[in-house]
Amino acid sequence: MRKKIVAGNWKMNTTVPEGIELAKAVVEASSQVPSDVKLIIATPFTHLYPIAEVVKGSVVALSAENCADKEKGAYTGEVSAAMLESVGCQYTILGHSERRQYYGETDEKLVEKTRLALAHGLDVILCVGENLEEREAGKHFDVCAEQIKNVLYHFSAEELAHIVVAYEPVWAIGTGKTATAEQAQEIHAFIRQTIAEKFGKQAAEQTSILYGGSCKPSNAKELFAQKDIDGGLIGGAALKAEDFIGIAMSF
Ligand code: PEP
Repeated sequence: MRKKIVAGNWKMNTTVPEGIELAKAVVEASSQVPSDVKLIIATPFTHLYPIAEVVKGSVVALSAENCADKEKGAYTGEVSAAMLESVGCQYTILGHSERRQYYGETDEKLVEKTRLALAHGLDVILCVGENLEEREAGKHFDVCAEQIKNVLYHFSAEELAHIVVAYEPVWAIGTGKTATAEQAQEIHAFIRQTIAEKFGKQAAEQTSILYGGSCKPSNAKELFAQKDIDGGLIGGAALKAEDFIGIAMSF
């Protein structure tokens, strides 16, 4: 049985005190969530250290939103996987479309980032997904297959066990537009098939594939009911504990 996961991506939102309050509210409400649903919050780097204390001993796991593609050294402004490990992070998101679009994140860099994250004991939430132009041109399958092959195919089946895939159609992120449950299921099944081609059916069946893109309490149930959707990566709705927990209760 693969893991059901609901992960919140806070992006560049909340000050540290506001983030601590939000994390406390999530921890407090987490008792309502079925125990087979893994809850993760991904916070800005500045928040990780104090929030690690807040989530300690709870069911809520801590994630970063990115990490460096270098081990250490003269890379001003970067935060390494070793640093994330040292503050108690268990996960990092990698390859979010906002990083690909605004910060020149390439698949080559993502291979390095993933390698370093795994080497430092972090599990990776690897984001893939097409933009609107690619969707309208019917290229979404090709785009996702290429992103999966360019990054995931560099790793072993053992390493794959520490990687969660998040399918996030760029046109649905922060836009209020959600992929229909059928659209999402179709591409999740395709991503699982692409994973199976390299790692085998069994490993693919064990890989959690999350949906991301304007997921909210009102649409999560239908999305999570799909056979190949194992949870969600949540942006805007993760900034309200009630909505985030509401989504996690939608399985
Ligand atoms: C995201 O950025 O990962 C995301 C899914 O955002 P939103 O839920 O706001 O669309």
